[in-house]
Amino acid sequence: MLIVGGGPAGLAAAIAARAKGLRITLVDSRKPPIDKACGEGLLPEGVAALQNLGVDLRDASPTPFAGIRFSDEHSSASARFPSGTAFGVRRTALHKLLLDRADSAGVDFVWGARVSAIDRAGAKINGERIRCQWLIGADGQQSGVRRFAQLGRDLSGPTRFGFRRHYAVAPWTDLVEVYWGKCRQMVITPTGAEEICVSLFSSDSHLHIDDALREFPQVAQRLSGAKPASTLAGAVTSLGRAAAVTLENIALVGDASGTVDGIAGQGLSLAFQQAQALGEALGRGDLACYESAHRRIMRNASRMTRLLLLMSASFAIRRRALRLFAARPSIFSRLIAVHAGEASQDALGAAEILDLGWCVLWA
Ligand SMILES: Cc1cc2nc3c(=O)[nH]c(=O)nc-3n(C[C@H](O)[C@H](O)[C@H](O)COP(=O)(O)OP(=O)(O)OC[C@H]3O[C@@H](n4cnc5c(N)ncnc54)[C@H](O)[C@@H]3O)c2cc1C
Repeated sequence: MLIVGGGPAGLAAAIAARAKGLRITLVDSRKPPIDKACGEGLLPEGVAALQNLGVDLRDASPTPFAGIRFSDEHSSASARFPSGTAFGVRRTALHKLLLDRADSAGVDFVWGARVSAIDRAGAKINGERIRCQWLIGADGQQSGVRRFAQLGRDLSGPTRFGFRRHYAVAPWTDLVEVYWGKCRQMVITPTGAEEICVSLFSSDSHLHIDDALREFPQVAQRLSGAKPASTLAGAVTSLGRAAAVTLENIALVGDASGTVDGIAGQGLSLAFQQAQALGEALGRGDLACYESAHRRIMRNASRMTRLLLLMSASFAIRRRALRLFAARPSIFSRLIAVHAGEASQDALGAAEILDLGWCVLWA
């Protein structure tokens, strides 16, 4: 089996497929340790999916967080996860953890080599043709495997830009904080005892974290005098999904298969759940069940992302939603429980969905 892409999705897929006895070559054009712009928050369902793959996130010395807070200039609402724990973890530490696990499971790696001339029977790596029974595209948003297989990509939201930078400052809360500004959001994730990760999401590729801080005075105050602990990194982010994620012996996983906007903080959790489902399908030699599992895995995340993007795009919707969450904490708690994969969508009763619907209609 050939896996194109050795990010979190590719490594997790390799671990899942090795557990089913498949021989795997994983190729990435970059070399470890691979870093990437990311808010670095892993929700409880992502932690659980990793555990199911035999990977204990605790080995990467992650920083736990207990829930999520939304704030704007007028309102604030917090919700704690009902049972599971979420973690902030540096991408490089997560990558090393997954790489060590895949390595000890017997995966073969080719780092620093670009995969080209992809077809159903294999691909070229460093100019040499490699044949494979299964071809897995874990090659990120701009997936070449997806392009070759003509699996398309439907975008159902705007293309936005995400930046992240770490600062040497002790986390001031055990929650991930999402600050809502005018069409942009700043997210704070604890990533160490003396370190936080700040992410910014907006439709402006030139708006960097330092400039945006003017709009988030509470964060600016917390960061005043704090030293940056990493360089600024950025990436495009959007809500979209491949028209299909399998074609004969080809499957897509992670961002190659579909993305939710980074504001949802779910890309990693989705990739690990998909890897698990892909491993099961490969074990049966039948990718059809991966296609349906993938749709199920993406469903809630896509819905939640749509709500978050609506809140981002419309001042009135954001104001009403945040007021509702602050006044009715139980709605926010249930929404966050569904978002974190700790409750099914049914946990949101008809009355609550109606309340949320009114937020949108009244705006
Ligand atoms: C600013 C920002 C903040 C985010 N915050 C969070 C968060 O807090 N929590 C969360 O869960 N998610 C978050 N996400 C989403 C998360 O980062 C992604 O979902 C995740 O990185 C997807 O992993 P992946 O392995 O699918 O893709 P990638 O990490 O993009 O890996 C793809 C790999 O494929 C390789 N590759 C591509 N083409 C080729 C080729 N032709 N040959 C060889 N190799 C190739 C690349 O080098 C790369 O290493 C955020 C995203 C952004 C942009």
